[in-house]
Amino acid sequence: MTAPAPTAHDVAAIVRQVLAELRQTGAPAPRQATPAGAVTGRSSAGHHGIFASVDEAVAAAAEAFHHLERLGVEGRKRAIAHIRRIAIGDAEELGRMEFAETGIGRLEHKIEKLKVLGEKVPGVEFMTSEVFSGDHGLAVIEHAPFGVIAAITPVTHSLPTIACNAVNMIAAGNTVVVNPHPSGRKVAAEGVRRFNAAIHRDLGVDNLVCLVAEPTLESAAELFAHRGVKLICVTGGPAVARAALQSPKRAIVAGPGNPPVVVDETADLDHAARSIIQGAAYDNNLLCIGEKQVFVVESVFDRMLVAMERAGALRLHAGQVDALTKRAIVWAGEGAHRHQVPCKDLLGKDAALLAQAAGATPREGLELVFGETDVDNPFVPVEQMMPFLPFVRCRDADEAIERAHESEHGFRHTAIVHSTNVRTMTRMGRLLDTTLFVKNGPSVAGLGLGGEGYLSFSIATPTGEGVTTPLTFTRQRRCTLVDDLRILGSPGMEA
Ligand code: NAD
Repeated sequence: MTAPAPTAHDVAAIVRQVLAELRQTGAPAPRQATPAGAVTGRSSAGHHGIFASVDEAVAAAAEAFHHLERLGVEGRKRAIAHIRRIAIGDAEELGRMEFAETGIGRLEHKIEKLKVLGEKVPGVEFMTSEVFSGDHGLAVIEHAPFGVIAAITPVTHSLPTIACNAVNMIAAGNTVVVNPHPSGRKVAAEGVRRFNAAIHRDLGVDNLVCLVAEPTLESAAELFAHRGVKLICVTGGPAVARAALQSPKRAIVAGPGNPPVVVDETADLDHAARSIIQGAAYDNNLLCIGEKQVFVVESVFDRMLVAMERAGALRLHAGQVDALTKRAIVWAGEGAHRHQVPCKDLLGKDAALLAQAAGATPREGLELVFGETDVDNPFVPVEQMMPFLPFVRCRDADEAIERAHESEHGFRHTAIVHSTNVRTMTRMGRLLDTTLFVKNGPSVAGLGLGGEGYLSFSIATPTGEGVTTPLTFTRQRRCTLVDDLRILGSPGMEA
């Protein structure tokens, strides 16, 4: 027996009841059909990217991917414009949220890291094609999207990484599901919700950027393994880099760094000091590219430390360095996995707090503390992510470069040199072989901030893609047309 068809009155009552239940549970209400008319009864539209489970998030991102395909490059461009506009326009509010939630870094830099979404992060203009034209016709190499990408983001820049990944990935025609760092998940969700709401209002497509609302290591593993995910992009430390490299799927891995600085006798010491402070004090040294340890040649070592003081950094004496080291670097793990890590209480905290922990008196506006250490001090090998820099005295540039190489652990991430000697630069560049190698400037110049080039918060190191762009998230597709449409005629061929 078939049930009688519901009347218009019944349907209205059902809709009212569902909406009331959704309001009670706090779940987002489903939206009406959009101007583009693409929202179906089973669509995930209305979630604005926030999902309780990996399955739902991937399904919504897959649906959004097919919708984005239909909107073409113009649709991608408009979607990205909304992300940029919100990142910049709401930078103050979202930056404050990120600062309050994570409790690390510096407020002004949390805000600035959203504002750089404006011009520095490349979009659809990067999506060029290559053409081969000859006697046998035409071949066009196009850069096609993968589909749904799984992204893992760090606590050090939760929303800026998501926004930047989203711009790159959408420019290339993909959609993304993010498993954010648990300690930055709230600001991540707020940003993602705002991006999707604006894109949905304008283009009628929701969930281009999806987020697992309560991320865990288990949800990250589930996302990596999900059959709907076509590519993985992780940004984070050694554990997540290892996990992604072990995945059977293609992974773009923006892994850890421990950037060393070398200063030789030919450097402009005052300029070097200002640059080192600018890079290492940025967001309290949370950046993976930030200066983490400095190797200075003996002949200018003492003068360099004076230059650092002149530029505004606070010098700690040996006893204070010892006191800070004991507080700031702790042991973690068991047995063979026992290793030193930065202490959570001081990671990303202000220089004034570090000075106090060392027993020194900070002055107003202090950005960086530093001190002489030997090469065995744990601040040298450990990626400390705090505004204290160890300075190591070296016999000459060759020794400084060797020490720098050891301290970088072969991550091949970032290195900085202050020198006017081309030989020093060349030798260091060859030995460390890093993805970013900055000469005579702050580390941030390597991301186009005061230097040339574009910016991304995901610098793919072990997998080699470098500073990620839209092209990083594409597959090559070749379209071949045989013996036609040649630009030049060939002998013996009729027009
Ligand atoms: P983290 O490694 O603690 O966490 C990063 C992300 O990975 C988080 O979302 C975390 O939940 C997740 N994660 C950790 N272990 C995992 C595992 N086994 N499987 C799946 N997911 C896992 O790092 P963090 O403290 O958030 O960020 C700082 C680190 O990230 C530093 O080492 C820094 O150098 C690095 N980093 C690198 C880049 C780059 O572009 N190369 C950019 C930013 C940060």
